[in-house]
Amino acid sequence: MPRPRTTCAIFATFLIAVAFLACQTDTADDAAAEADMDAEHEESAESHEVHWSYEGDTGPAMWGSLDPSFAACDDGTRQSPVDIAGAVDGGEGELEIRWQAGDAEVIDNGHTIVVNVAEGSAISLEGREFALLQFHFHHPSEHTVEGSAAPIDIHFVHAAGEGDLAVIGVFLEAGEADPTIQSIWDAIPPVGESPGALAALDPRALLPEGGSHYRYPGSLTTPGCSEIVSWVVMTDSIAVSQEQIDAFAAIYPMNARPVQPLNERTIELRQ
Ligand SMILES: [Zn+2]
Repeated sequence: MPRPRTTCAIFATFLIAVAFLACQTDTADDAAAEADMDAEHEESAESHEVHWSYEGDTGPAMWGSLDPSFAACDDGTRQSPVDIAGAVDGGEGELEIRWQAGDAEVIDNGHTIVVNVAEGSAISLEGREFALLQFHFHHPSEHTVEGSAAPIDIHFVHAAGEGDLAVIGVFLEAGEADPTIQSIWDAIPPVGESPGALAALDPRALLPEGGSHYRYPGSLTTPGCSEIVSWVVMTDSIAVSQEQIDAFAAIYPMNARPVQPLNERTIELRQ
């Protein structure tokens, strides 16, 4: 007798959760610590081994053909990032950010710089709870606004118990130096070496003052491009110095996926 579809779905969800949790604890493994990625690990154990990059034969245009578990990169219809334009008024934000200071560690996973945070920071998004796992950086920014990229963006990756993700994007623009960013840059270890330690890192210092944000349903921006992400992109940016931008660019000159078609989706502006 064929196994009922619901059983398969539950079983698959269970496997995803196990793989996800296993990878969360494997911060010493650079490959396992991929960016938007924590989630990528959900895809399959093999996806760790598949080399991908931001250019050439293993670049974004090729991701979907590099591994069966990356198929959504080609076939997906709700891919990220996107160009943010034509947003409609979505009313109240229904976003509550409850981050807190805690010890953190910084790694270079070969795709980006990742800051793994201590447990205890979370958000509530439309009544659902998501725990903050890590944040990481893209240069230039992955999301664009009316065609313009910021020098860098931060992605704060949150997970719900069911495996869905909520990612908050914050644009970094050139201006005054930011002390929190500097503390992170100063803790970056060489690729493959032990994580850099950061005591009492407060992620709230990396949030813009204004709470208005864009919302849309999308995906991971790295293979396997799973369409499991509720995106929140803050409209206001924070400032970092040109020197701080240059320091990141010296490590990652280009680690941004190009914008993807919006297709049938609507981008909402929430206050
Ligand atoms: Zn990202």
